[in-house]
Amino acid sequence: MKFDVLTIFPSMVEAFLAEGVVGRATGRGVLDVRVHNLRQFTTDRHRSVDDVPYGGGPGMVMKSEPFFRAVENVERTRGIPDAVVLTSPQGTPLNHAESLRLSRLSHVVLLCGRYEAVDERVRARVVSEEISIGDYVLSGGEIPAMVILDAVGRLVPGVVGDAASVRDDSFDRGLLDHPHYTRPADVNGDVVPDVLLSGNHAEIRWWRKYEAVKRTLERRPDLLTKGGSRLDDEEREILQQLQDSELERKARAGA
Ligand code: SAH
Repeated sequence: MKFDVLTIFPSMVEAFLAEGVVGRATGRGVLDVRVHNLRQFTTDRHRSVDDVPYGGGPGMVMKSEPFFRAVENVERTRGIPDAVVLTSPQGTPLNHAESLRLSRLSHVVLLCGRYEAVDERVRARVVSEEISIGDYVLSGGEIPAMVILDAVGRLVPGVVGDAASVRDDSFDRGLLDHPHYTRPADVNGDVVPDVLLSGNHAEIRWWRKYEAVKRTLERRPDLLTKGGSRLDDEEREILQQLQDSELERKARAGA
């Protein structure tokens, strides 16, 4: 999968690409990521990428032409992309389903804004979609672009070594992940649940499902109403048990 990132701070994104699972995948050629410096697409002596807002007011606005020229350059040298994404707090919130959809595309361009905003005509002329990484405002689109790269990139087949590990992660089926433990078995008296040391694979599998459903019910019940249909029979049975015992508890408390 190809990504192109357009930014005035390329070194931020390059540092991210140097390490970790997604970084290694770019090294192996599973992901093909290029970072483009918007300043190289300016024409004035000062290489300006921003200017004062029409109508006045505080802050600066990112100029449209460097984005246009950079996108044209991507189209010419890398091919026509499937999506040109503007990172923006006004965009569609990123979640697992969105990440999965993007991971099935073959070429995505990510535009990083800075300052007050990006000139509206960039959105109108070259942007195909806007994505937000959450309801808060950051000072620039580089971190959002890296979040998108990471969340989407790790879903591309071959990026994470063990595909099962991606499948088991939180959100894949509308369930949060179960708790994890590694050695030592005893940390100052805080011990690993017996079942994980039992070697009984069927019991371990069941325990993990139980813990995943319980956690989801406690922390994110909204996921169960949205993604309930993707639970398997065992998970559905566990959910039913947990809900029944909660009802019983409430009935007793009320009595
Ligand atoms: N004035 C704008 C915010 C500008 S923040 C507004 O209120 O909508 C500067 C840049 O940071 C944005 O252009 C965008 O690229 C990025 N950014 C900030 N918060 C973001 C978020 N939650 N999701 C995605 N991108 C964000």
